Amino acid sequence: MSRSVTRLLALLAFCTSSASFAFDDHAANDNPIAIAIHGGAGTITRANLNPEQEQAYRAKLTEAIDAGHAILANGGSSMDAVIAAVQIMEASPLFNAGIGAVYTFDGEHELDASIMDGKTREAGAVAGVKTVKSPIALARAVMEKSVHVMLSGTGAEQFAQEQGLEQVTNDYFNTEHRHQQLQRAREQLGEADKQAYLALDEKFKYGTVGAVAVDKHGNLAAATSTGGMTAKRYGRIGDSPIIGAGTWADNESCAISATGHGEYFIRYHVAADICSRVKYLGESIQVAGDTVIHDVLLPQGGTGGVIIVDADGNVHMPFNTEGMYRASKVGDGQAEVAIYRD
Ligand code: ASP
Repeated sequence: MSRSVTRLLALLAFCTSSASFAFDDHAANDNPIAIAIHGGAGTITRANLNPEQEQAYRAKLTEAIDAGHAILANGGSSMDAVIAAVQIMEASPLFNAGIGAVYTFDGEHELDASIMDGKTREAGAVAGVKTVKSPIALARAVMEKSVHVMLSGTGAEQFAQEQGLEQVTNDYFNTEHRHQQLQRAREQLGEADKQAYLALDEKFKYGTVGAVAVDKHGNLAAATSTGGMTAKRYGRIGDSPIIGAGTWADNESCAISATGHGEYFIRYHVAADICSRVKYLGESIQVAGDTVIHDVLLPQGGTGGVIIVDADGNVHMPFNTEGMYRASKVGDGQAEVAIYRD
């Protein structure tokens, strides 16, 4: 081949690759953005919330969704967006995560959290931490700064310290209303049946927070943070820190954060199951989410819900309880905030 033909071929190759690079880059920055959040599912009815309480929940959900959305709108990553939204809810006494976390049977708080990056399938999780101000920040540190996926208890706290994350004493998470909830739960359970938090009314149980998002580059992320279930014992850990159960993100299917009765969400591998249906059966997030929440979980007694976002910016938030604190914001649209089933 003559040198000039070789040069021509090289030039052609360069033009084609830079053209496709320019196209990809353009497309990658144009992905529709979307974010959804939840603040727990359960027996949430108009009769249970007075107008001031309802207003307080709506305001905090709006603040959290707006904070996450602003990051996406400015070209930030879905990972940063879900962390920002979750941290606002962790810092609020309204939700069962961070301040306002439920009490264990023994009167403490043991916090769980997890996070997953849909682009890399990297994940981080922490379980049973008592002294880390933001468990979701620790989950992210586990993902980014350790070779592990899941750390627990005092080891996780030591890692948090080494990473320079803010430490607090366990009473930092105390709130009066959760303490009263524990008292009522203890009365209801009695001393005889200390493992029977299962028998507690739903209103004692849920309130986990979570966020899912897709950014301008089409990358998905999911994050979940919780105090678990009121009156839990023996180091019980629910679905929230379990990748595939309470949290999942995969750019090829969807991102999910769950809330509900963790034992069921673990056994039915809820978050990963929904995304697998999307990926392998080609179902929409609506069909896959509704099937798992209503047709798979509910007949078994598994109550709760999920928030789902896919790479096209579709959002779906199915739940089988009376209510789920939730909000979403798609593209440059308005935030949609909802609490009850209707
Ligand atoms: N899923 C959480 C757990 O079982 C509880 C919740 O969603 O509020 O620990």
